[in-house]
Amino acid sequence: MPKLQVVDPVIFRVAIPVPVYRLFDYIAPADLDLKAIKPGVRLEVPFGKSKKIAYLLEITQQSDIDVTKLKPIIRVLDQQSLLSSKDLRLLQWASDYYQHPLGEVISTAFPTALRQGKPAELKVEKHYCLTELGKAIDSSDLKRTPKQKNLLEKFQTSAEATLSEAELAEWNQQWRPALNLLITKQLLAESAINTTYIAPKVVIKNQPLTCNPQQQTAINNVCSHLTSFNTFLLEGVTGSGKTEVYLQIIQTVLEQGSQVLVLVPEITLTPQLEARFKHRFAVNIAISHSKLTDKQRQIAWLQMQSGQCSIMLGTRSALFTPLKRLGLIILDEEHDGSFKQQEGFRFSARDVALVRAKLLSVPVVLGSATPSLESLHNVNKQRYTLLHLPERAGNSTEPTLQLLDIRNKAIQEGLSDALIGEIHKTLAKNEQVLLFLNRRGFAPTLICHGCGWVARCLYCDANLVIHYDEGRLRCHHCERDQQLLKQCPDCKSAQLTPLGLGTERVERVLAELFADKVIVRLDRDTTQRKGVLENYLQQINAGSIDIILGTQMLAKGHHFPNVTLVAILDVDSGLFSIDFHASEKLAQMIVQVSGRAGRADKPGKVIMQTRQPEHPLLTTLITQGYNSFAKTVLEERKEATLPPFSYQALLRVQSLEPEAPKLFFQALAELIPIIKKHHTLVLGPVAAPMAKRAGQYRYQMLFQNTRRVELQAFLKTLMPAMTQLKQAKKVRWSLDVDPIDLY
Ligand code: ADP
Ligand code: ZN
Ligand code: ZN
Repeated sequence: MPKLQVVDPVIFRVAIPVPVYRLFDYIAPADLDLKAIKPGVRLEVPFGKSKKIAYLLEITQQSDIDVTKLKPIIRVLDQQSLLSSKDLRLLQWASDYYQHPLGEVISTAFPTALRQGKPAELKVEKHYCLTELGKAIDSSDLKRTPKQKNLLEKFQTSAEATLSEAELAEWNQQWRPALNLLITKQLLAESAINTTYIAPKVVIKNQPLTCNPQQQTAINNVCSHLTSFNTFLLEGVTGSGKTEVYLQIIQTVLEQGSQVLVLVPEITLTPQLEARFKHRFAVNIAISHSKLTDKQRQIAWLQMQSGQCSIMLGTRSALFTPLKRLGLIILDEEHDGSFKQQEGFRFSARDVALVRAKLLSVPVVLGSATPSLESLHNVNKQRYTLLHLPERAGNSTEPTLQLLDIRNKAIQEGLSDALIGEIHKTLAKNEQVLLFLNRRGFAPTLICHGCGWVARCLYCDANLVIHYDEGRLRCHHCERDQQLLKQCPDCKSAQLTPLGLGTERVERVLAELFADKVIVRLDRDTTQRKGVLENYLQQINAGSIDIILGTQMLAKGHHFPNVTLVAILDVDSGLFSIDFHASEKLAQMIVQVSGRAGRADKPGKVIMQTRQPEHPLLTTLITQGYNSFAKTVLEERKEATLPPFSYQALLRVQSLEPEAPKLFFQALAELIPIIKKHHTLVLGPVAAPMAKRAGQYRYQMLFQNTRRVELQAFLKTLMPAMTQLKQAKKVRWSLDVDPIDLY
């Protein structure tokens, strides 16, 4: 009897974007040409009662699950993988490092439409070329049809083998009828599209500036290390010419035929940067950030993936864009917290960018006026190369910083008499003033003068903020709001008093004190509608605004050449945080805000109102500068074994049930000792600094280790076991590796 031949089924091992730490196996259809299918392609698979998009990771013959129980996939969505094997390796690494399910990590690399399984089609421009007949024919044979004759000559005399639709349209708006006729005559043909990366022939549109010696040293240093992984920290005050350094390095990379990835914290705030790139370079530039439509982002993504664009300028989500020939990564304002994703897949775009660059053997340039302490520490450890631009480029000089002691001084709604005097002096010279207060609304607290009652949010451990303009009391943590009260709900007194300062309140007093001046308030409340902020910025630059009052959003990126006085109204509120990251953030904020002053040829002045004029953070920063401040704080962190001298992961747990987090941590406490030989410090559980938020009771536990690998090994054992706990299903939890705040 002939032996029965058993064919082992082929199994697809896939990642699916669901919150579980495992991969899934499916049966590959028997009629599929497996040679053509590579890891990274998108598949559609049955999942429970629904369908999901899955990412193929491996083709195998073995499964831990009984093969007869495996379901077949529904269909294959891509002919070719949109991700390279190195892209997949990076995503795998990120999934391991941040302890986040691989399927969800891979899915963040794709734009929304592709995540939903839409086809990865990019409308490519058609190109046309001469046929053999077209090359041989004498164009005067077409003298009776002058339009066709002209078009044929255009092709015959062109230096290029093919001409694109855009090039033809630029040559003559009416090109298409003649082209169609020449195709019918078989003199022209549509040329096959080359989807491999085409290096642009001409890179720049406008000539670079002549650099100062420091800029030139920085450029030369990076450009002589373009073929290996190196991290450069470009440290230079605002206006020192960092952007010019980026532009010239990018030029060299483009001339070598490579692509460049430029990441910025918030691209909507930096239209100037986009404009400078477009002014300098003749290559195609793709832009990607969250204010664009899904469609626009998908096009940008595919243009980079296919190599049609040479530069990607985007925010942290652009980091994972697949690039055919990546040659350089630049991260501007590397210290900025926006590079850390704070929900879902909590990754640091800066740290992952370094891993990506290492995988691809390309350099990374991190730029900042106020580098993060981690980066400065890495310079000290000689892991990064420091490139320093100590002076402002061109004629502008650095602003002077000054502390204004307001203890026992007369003060009107946050403005001391001395500051009011300075504002008058500045306005009299026809220059602009910028006032910074990082709190929106009218006042952060409403208190009853009769009985001491305070307006609290019912759902959060927080006071309601007064918004007089809208007549509302609003919680800034859960966004719930209610009508502004006229009477105390407890004692019925009408003496409800606002306590503390917000931008609305300062705006009112400014309007009284400077009645003939134009004042603008820039905060989240006044700039919500699209285009409003851009409009205000234009008016500021045109000189039609005298006083600019605003929050955090003013600190980043903007250039106000005519602002010569910057005042930080309440610097003290940043001095007393329980989070050790706060002093670093405050110092960076002060320096960044100061950087808005005196950008052009007029010298700028920065005044900080304080009741803590002897506070060491402030005095070190002002008398010795950011670097000395950073050195002091690094010493303190070393003493206390805090990052960057140790590594942390924060487990946040919350539930609507007050008891559920406690029960969860009890179960977890039994699990932790089982993990053998771990030297990880376990701190907590403790109530979160804001113990209740949006109705959720919040707790946290901090893991810390002086060795990154040990912390990683600990988490790798803990997390899968933790997710199996039945108490884990009754709470919402998240793990934040390398947290940048402990709230
Ligand atoms: P940063 O990015 O550090 O804030 P920029 O590159 O934007 O600095 O430079 C600040 C200003 O100085 C810009 O207006 C820029 O055109 C100008 N600038 C930069 N480098 C030079 C240079 N070498 N010579 C003259 N002007 C320069
Ligand atoms: Zn009362
Ligand atoms: Zn609330």
